[in-house]
Amino acid sequence: METTQCPLYRKCGGCQLQNMDYPRQLAWKQNRVKKLLSKFVQPEPILGMEHPYHYRNKVQAAFTADRRGNILSGVYQSSTHHVVPVESCLTEDETADKIMLSVRKLLKSFKLKPYDEMTERGFLRHVLVKRGFASGQIMVVLVAASPIFPAKKFVKALLKMHPEITTVLLNLNDRHTSMVLGEREKVLYGPGYIEDTLCGCRFRISAKSFYQINPVQCERLYAVAMNYAGLTGKETVIDAYCGIGTIGMVAAKQAGSVYGIELSRDAVHDAVFNAKLNHIHNIRFLCADATESLTAMAEDGDHADVVFMDPPRAGSTERFLLSLSELAPERIVYISCNPETQARDLDYLCARGYAVRKIQPVDMFPHTNHVETVALVSKVNC
Ligand code: SAH
Repeated sequence: METTQCPLYRKCGGCQLQNMDYPRQLAWKQNRVKKLLSKFVQPEPILGMEHPYHYRNKVQAAFTADRRGNILSGVYQSSTHHVVPVESCLTEDETADKIMLSVRKLLKSFKLKPYDEMTERGFLRHVLVKRGFASGQIMVVLVAASPIFPAKKFVKALLKMHPEITTVLLNLNDRHTSMVLGEREKVLYGPGYIEDTLCGCRFRISAKSFYQINPVQCERLYAVAMNYAGLTGKETVIDAYCGIGTIGMVAAKQAGSVYGIELSRDAVHDAVFNAKLNHIHNIRFLCADATESLTAMAEDGDHADVVFMDPPRAGSTERFLLSLSELAPERIVYISCNPETQARDLDYLCARGYAVRKIQPVDMFPHTNHVETVALVSKVNC
């Protein structure tokens, strides 16, 4: 049964599974996880979304003009630089989509042009909108090739159309680059950041900082992870690949001490700030490569009771997993966005005295082919 609801399904390429209705998408994901991971333990039924639409709290659009000079905004067709115009998207926040359309109108009335990569002329390259689903706060980032435009009047007109916007920034990106955001930014209105609440913790979100895209499913994912971790308030916990420290901060409330390890300096900066914001004092963050830090800890003869790990799609490294087995935690909670690399890494842990006890798939990105899984791994002789 094909229930394609989006006219851009074939052109955009963002929602690979949209030709299936939602129950079939979930069955497809369950099957994929089963194929790769049931050799360890039978995976639990996937946690799907009740309302699998408009779940993305961060929306990005590229701006361009067609041959007649009409202003368009949307997404790049996969692996091209051709912009597919988007008016509304089934996965994106609806307010964000409306803001994009308003920016199109405002550019026209202010006689501002989208940036043209060929001629290197024009003003606006992208717009980024982030919305805190719990707080209702909204950030709009205008990514422009030049700082010269009537900022005050433009922002005033935008706020008149969308009084719900809480902050507006100008980000300058004047380079040849596929990166959306440039280095320099200027706050045009409001505090320059938004805040949101996730799992009872407050997070400050800046234009550049990473934040979970689907907060509704993220809370369910973390709840499973905490349940698997079985913390009692005394444990020494490691949160490897911790990003802005979300998992570690939720765990800190139920643990003795937590060490977050993260490579990105910006993410660690946000993590330290967010820990203070929440008055969490039993968490430390190390800005380092996870493999290097774990190897150093294992060499020092350190011990951890519980280790959370949430590596990028490529998975972890053999040296990380070897050091992890030497740290000998009672429990490992392995969160993954790629069941293939997770299967490889779990094989490695199983060869070093561990067994996989439970696997919970979670649908973080309905209509796409991505699937997230949480695995509980513990020592064989426990
Ligand atoms: N646990 C976080 C983020 C997971 S995304 C959350 O739930 O929000 C994976 C993270 O691993 C990213 O923040 C990335 O910057 C980080 N990372 C990638 N390679 C790394 C490495 N070699 N060592 C430490 N962190 C790494």
